[in-house]
Amino acid sequence: MTIDWKLEQAQIEKAAKLGEQITRDAGIVAPPIDPFTLIRNEGKRIKAFGDDFGRDFDGRLEFQSPKFLLFYNTKYDEWPHDGQHHPKVLFTIGHELGHYFLEHHRNYLRSGGGAHGSMTEFQSGRLVEREADSFSSGLLMPKYLLGQIVNRNPPNMNLVKQARGQFEVSLTSMLVRWVQLCDFPCAVASIRSSAIEWGFCSPGFKRAGVFKVKRGAPVSSRTAQAFMGEDVSFSKFREGEGYSDVSHWVENDDLRFVVEEQYLVVPSTQQMLVLITADEDDIFNGRDSE
Ligand SMILES: [Zn+2]
Repeated sequence: MTIDWKLEQAQIEKAAKLGEQITRDAGIVAPPIDPFTLIRNEGKRIKAFGDDFGRDFDGRLEFQSPKFLLFYNTKYDEWPHDGQHHPKVLFTIGHELGHYFLEHHRNYLRSGGGAHGSMTEFQSGRLVEREADSFSSGLLMPKYLLGQIVNRNPPNMNLVKQARGQFEVSLTSMLVRWVQLCDFPCAVASIRSSAIEWGFCSPGFKRAGVFKVKRGAPVSSRTAQAFMGEDVSFSKFREGEGYSDVSHWVENDDLRFVVEEQYLVVPSTQQMLVLITADEDDIFNGRDSE
């Protein structure tokens, strides 16, 4: 692993920890976490405005002395959801709070750095955006509330869906957070236009030397290709399962062992999510045969 990548990982983990700390300090002891509570706790230092901002941005934080203005796009409230706001809107508010609470983000804005429009939920590759996404994940799904649920049983999509309901977050952000907290070997990948858009490996996978999902690569697992082929538009919710060799998903070319795949299509974002799981015994047998 390169030093840059490790440093970035450390920054991103630090952002998630700060998000968790804010939720913990607010005295929240059960999900779901309402980010508006955290905004109210800041009193006059920050004020939030929701509106349909079309395609301009998901969220935006501006410093207008002496306070911060947090804008969030409510267009996603048109998507089906329970509660007042769609989880994507709440995640966006968490993301903007990241720009507010992360010291180097806040200092940048306070010192006259221009506000930027954020695209949230792992769509941006920029480090500050990934930090803000990670902060939001920590804030809405803190380890002290989610960690035990994640590590009670080997991961599967049904458990992730249950937790998503409890925490009232999007399935995408719950899957990512689940993998980030998981001691079992697993990974998540997001597929758009037949290619791997982004992905993450669990600490359980990292311990086995599997660090990175192949970003940008075309999907090469046959069972995943077949599932995609049933309806490439990703316009309807559907689920499926398959399996392949781990080398289809991760950057380690030297590893050979079977992984199980669980697929789920999210029509609102025209995205396919894949939960990739491995058996610890298979990983180490794969090593021995090298
Ligand atoms: Zn942002």
